[in-house]
Amino acid sequence: MSQISVAIVGGDLRFVRLSQILCDQNFNVLIYGLSHPDIPRSAHICTSIDELKDVPYIIGPIPFSKDNTCVFTPLCNTYIPLEQFFRVASNSFVLGSVLTSNLVEAFETHHIRYCDIMKMNEIAILNAIPTAEGAIQYAMQHSEITLHNSRCLVLGFGRCGKILAYKLQSLGTKVAVEARSTTDIAFISTYGYEAVPLNELKTHLGNFDFIFNTIPVVILNKEEIDAFNPEVVYIELASVPGGIDINYCHERGIVHVPAPSLPGIVAPKSAAAIIYQCLLLILRNQGASL
Ligand code: NAP
Repeated sequence: MSQISVAIVGGDLRFVRLSQILCDQNFNVLIYGLSHPDIPRSAHICTSIDELKDVPYIIGPIPFSKDNTCVFTPLCNTYIPLEQFFRVASNSFVLGSVLTSNLVEAFETHHIRYCDIMKMNEIAILNAIPTAEGAIQYAMQHSEITLHNSRCLVLGFGRCGKILAYKLQSLGTKVAVEARSTTDIAFISTYGYEAVPLNELKTHLGNFDFIFNTIPVVILNKEEIDAFNPEVVYIELASVPGGIDINYCHERGIVHVPAPSLPGIVAPKSAAAIIYQCLLLILRNQGASL
């Protein structure tokens, strides 16, 4: 295989692990906006963003940007304004993640080929495994009761909701799952979980020790929060803005646990292996000879 150049820009520990995998697999690896002692010596550390020009593949962080202003670089203090990134990436294929509509528009305006890897089911479903394990870890850390026999509500029955409900059930919890589609409600009952249709949610909310949210839209406002069991532990998995009126949640003294980027925190090696599989899939789709 001819050596393929891949640049990693920004990101958390999973991108350090990814740099190790890529170097082991004989890719030509360039790094910008990521600093860590475990980055292999064979990787080229760029000192200027201009070194990214014409690199065929660039892998951006998860999420790509937290503020729609700069690329997310939690492990180093390099500030990468999005405009600078778009300027150098015009001839590259960019693997992005959690791209907001503003970012999508910017990629398109700059005519940059890109994909949002978290929109690819092959990746998002696998990524839901470390996410669910991390959510369970956080639940254990923030409560004084066992998950066994506890009453858990999962909000949303998408990729994360499905895997999380499955793992919670296998730990002996009493699992209820909220969904808005009647098809999902039928599946939820079929799997042996308590089904909670969205329009009946409020009447159920007081029954739980743990609430795990995977819906990236605020559906829990004052009235819903007032219906909570005051001892509930609320774990926020969904991306910004999350599913709850966070200020009112704090005002009411509800335990609110933000749980962003769990794969990168609880299982960076596994998460890196998933991103690597994603890269291979994209390289094949782009006609690269592997
Ligand atoms: P997904 O497969 O799209 O599932 C989203 C769920 O939210 C679906 O059940 C969807 O219902 C529901 N939903 C969306 N909009 C809604 C609304 N307005 N009202 C009611 N329900 C609504 O997404 P996912 O892959 O499971 O990811 C879920 C969230 O977790 C995303 O925000 C993602 O970025 C985040 N995430 C976080 C981590 C972490 O480490 N914390 C890891 C992975 C993903 P329908 O199917 O009916 O639309």
